Amino acid sequence: MHNRHTGHVACLNKNKYALIRYQLKTGKSRIDGTGCFMLEAVPARRKIGNMEGEIISVRVARKRAAASKRIAIVEFGDGRALDAGNFATPLKFINHSCDPNTYLRVAYGQVEFYSLRKIKKGEELTCNYGPTHHDGRLPCQCGAKNCKGYL
Ligand SMILES: [Zn+2]
Repeated sequence: MHNRHTGHVACLNKNKYALIRYQLKTGKSRIDGTGCFMLEAVPARRKIGNMEGEIISVRVARKRAAASKRIAIVEFGDGRALDAGNFATPLKFINHSCDPNTYLRVAYGQVEFYSLRKIKKGEELTCNYGPTHHDGRLPCQCGAKNCKGYL
């Protein structure tokens, strides 16, 4: 993951028991760099897990984003952001796709990933990042039929 997301959050409630509910692994992605893959099948509309990270201000997040090539930062839309960069969570390796199999939900200071459809064992997890700090200038390599071409 190397983009920021925007979203909304009502309050900060850091979950000390951030769980990954399904077995995942990281590996070489066909889309970009390292990806996140399922080690088991997941039915549609299930929570896959919370992305662990550090809560920081958007100001700090944007400084960090400007200073590094790869980031794993999700903005909450209330001036705060979650930076998973220094955490071992496999969810930070979920790549963008214009035809994703997961979606990202930001709520109560948590970044959660859910399956959009049934995902097979071995499939790479993808999510539509939405607006990113690339402002539509980064060529998309997702390979989807409906690829929009840029992030
Ligand atoms: Zn695409």
